[in-house]
Amino acid sequence: MLRVYNTLARKKEEFKTLEPNLVKMYVCGVTVYSDAHIGHAMFALVFDIVRRYLTYRGYDVRLVINYTDVDDKIINRANSLGVDASELAEKYINEFRRQIEVLNILPATVNPRATQEMPQIIRMIDGLIEKGFAYPAKNGDVYFRVTKDPDYGKLSGRRIEDMQAGARNEVGEEKEHPMDFALWKASKTGEPAWDSPWGQGRPGWHIECSAMNLSHLGEQIDIHGGGNDLVFPHHENEIAQTESYTGKPFARYWMHNGMLQLQGEKMSKSIGNLVTIDEFLSRHEADALRMMILNGSYRAPLSYSDDIVDAAERGLDRLRSGLKPAQPGATSTSTNVGTELDKQAETTQQTFIDAMDDDFNSSGGLAALFELVRSINTARDAGASNAQLKPAQDTLTELTSVLGLRLHEKKSSGGDADKFIALLVDIRTEMRKEKNWGISDLIRDRLKDLGVAIEDNKDGTTWHW
Ligand SMILES: [Zn+2]
Repeated sequence: MLRVYNTLARKKEEFKTLEPNLVKMYVCGVTVYSDAHIGHAMFALVFDIVRRYLTYRGYDVRLVINYTDVDDKIINRANSLGVDASELAEKYINEFRRQIEVLNILPATVNPRATQEMPQIIRMIDGLIEKGFAYPAKNGDVYFRVTKDPDYGKLSGRRIEDMQAGARNEVGEEKEHPMDFALWKASKTGEPAWDSPWGQGRPGWHIECSAMNLSHLGEQIDIHGGGNDLVFPHHENEIAQTESYTGKPFARYWMHNGMLQLQGEKMSKSIGNLVTIDEFLSRHEADALRMMILNGSYRAPLSYSDDIVDAAERGLDRLRSGLKPAQPGATSTSTNVGTELDKQAETTQQTFIDAMDDDFNSSGGLAALFELVRSINTARDAGASNAQLKPAQDTLTELTSVLGLRLHEKKSSGGDADKFIALLVDIRTEMRKEKNWGISDLIRDRLKDLGVAIEDNKDGTTWHW
C-alpha cells in the first residue's frame, strides 16, 4: 500500500486516486528569467522520481508542469537587457528543456504557459467576482477577498487574524483587507498587457496555476506538488481560488520537496549562493545530481557540498560494479550461487517496493539495491557465470531505472572518453567512404566490446553507451 505525506493533512495518508489507475498531477514549474540553478533541478528530479515510481506501480500519470512566462522578474530583467519579455522567456524555456533532457527527467504530458491561458484566467476571475470571492478595485486591479473564504490558511496552518498584524497595503494597492491578493494587475507602461473586462493588465502569479490546472487536468486532481517555499502564499492562494470557483475540494495530496541549500541558506538568485545546472554538468555526470537527492529524503532540506556530490558519485560507481561480467572462464557448474542470487533478487524487489511505498523513501530503496549489488559481487567472486548473474543484474537495472538512474551509460557531458569515441566514429565513417570494410568493422566490433553501440542510418552514424 502506497502512502504519501500530505502537507494538507500534515501526515502520511494512503494513496487513493480519483479515478482508478490514473494520477492527475500538477507541479509548479520555473519562472523563466535567468539561468536555472540546481535548486530548480531539485523539484524537477523529485517529481520525476515520484512520477516514475507511480508508473512502475501501474498508474497512468498525467503530469502537468507549467512555465511562468509573465512575471515582475521577467519584465525587469528583459527591460534591463533591452529585449522583449517574451523573447527572454522563450530563451530560458528552451534552455531548461535541454537541461531536463540531460538530467534524464521524463517530459511532462503538458507544459502550459501562463501567457497562453489568458481566456481561462479571465473566465476564472470573472466567475470569482460573480460569486463574491473577488472584487475589481478602482485602480484596475482585481483582488481575492480572503475573508469570504472560511478555510483560508488551511494548507499553511496560518490564520487571517495572525497574518493581519504584519500586513499592510503597498503603495498603489486598493485592497479591502491587507491579506487580499491580486488576481489581476493593471498594467503599467512598458509592461506586457492583455485586454480584460477590467482594462489592460496581466494576471497575478497564483491565478495562473489555478487556471492551468483547470484547463489541463480539470476541477479536481490527485497530486499537487512544488517546493516547500511555495506552501504560502502561492499554494494557499491556489486552493482558495480554485475551491471558491468550483465549490469542490481541489487536490487530494499536496506534496512539497525540501530546498537545496548552499552555505546554510536556500539556493536562490537573490542571495547569489547558487550553482547553475550547466556548471554542475560541466564538472559531474548528470546522474550524480539525481543520486544526491535519492540519498536523502525529498521532504528534507538538502545541503549542497563537495562531500555529498562525492558520496553520490561513489554510490553510482558501487551500483555499476554490480553489472560487471563474470570472471573469465566462470561456468554455471560451480555452485548453487545462482539459485541463492535469484532468491536475493526477489527479496530485493519486495524490499525496494516496501521502502518506496513509504512516501517514496528512496534512500531505503537504494539500500535494498546496494544489498543486491553486494550479493552479485560476492557471487561473481565465488565463480558465478554470466548466466547465473544475469537475473539479479536485470533486477538491478530495472529498479535503478525506476529511480531514473542510467547504469549502462555514463552520462558525462563533455567527458574525455566521449571525445575519443566520437573521433573513432568519425575515422570509421571515412573508412566506409573508402570502402575499407575491414577496418570499419574492426572499429565497430572493438567499440562494441567496450559497451559502445554504433548505428548507421541514412543521416549518418550515431553512437551511445
Ligand atoms: Zn504554481
